[in-house]
Parts: sequence; structure tokens; C-alpha cells
Amino acid sequence: MSDRFLPSPVGLNGEFYAFLARGELRLQRCAACGSWRHPPRYRCALCGSVEATWEPATGGGRVFSWTVTHRAVDPAFTPPYTILVVELEEGPRLVGNLRGLDPSELVLDLPVVVEIEHASDTVGLLWFRPASPE
Ligand SMILES: [Zn+2]
Repeated sequence: MSDRFLPSPVGLNGEFYAFLARGELRLQRCAACGSWRHPPRYRCALCGSVEATWEPATGGGRVFSWTVTHRAVDPAFTPPYTILVVELEEGPRLVGNLRGLDPSELVLDLPVVVEIEHASDTVGLLWFRPASPE
């Protein structure tokens, strides 16, 4: 169990974090038009449908943006730490921490992969690390 603040696992966000707690990255996918949705919501932004399923995502993506925090507000975080915005292969963007790379080596579009940390029975946390060269 992590000492850090955890997301509140309620509503649709609770479903998202419950999948992460089981080690699965799943995103909503519109049952009418097939578009991916994140963050979770009740209606499709493209077609308005309320029908959706939770589909597995590849976990691969590219760095869209990042910030390096040098002064932590929570003692569970050891500064400096890096928060990434990653555009997934499926299209939606996710936010998570960086591991496995010095932030000075970050570049836009760097290929990364998701790692999931089990934080509690109801919450998993997202991390990203550089993808292995193929
Ligand atoms: Zn739709």
C-alpha cells in the first residue's frame, strides 16, 4: 500500500482504477462508433452514444508533454519527479509518472510503455518507461 494520496475510485473513474488494480489497462470504447474515450465519461464525445465497453489498450504510446517537479507537496514523492502526458496508440492521452529514464533525456514523441503499480485493492497507478528498441 502506497503512502501517497490515491485517486478516489468512484463512478466511471472507479471502474478505470479497478482495472488498473488488477493489472489491466482498459479504456472505454464507444459501442456505437468505436472511438476510444479517456478520461471515462457517460457519453461519446463524437456520436453521443451512452453505450460503451471497457477494452484492453496496448499500453504503448508516445510522449506528448511532461513536467518535472522539483518541490513535492506530498512526502511520498521524492523530487525531482517527472509527470508525462502520453498519447496512446489508441488515441487518448494518459497522465502518469516517468521511470527508467533521466528527465533530461526526454524528447517529444519518445516511445513509452505503461507499467501498472498495484496501490490498493481498488486502485492501480500508471507509470511510463521508455519502450525497448525493436
Ligand atoms: Zn461514439
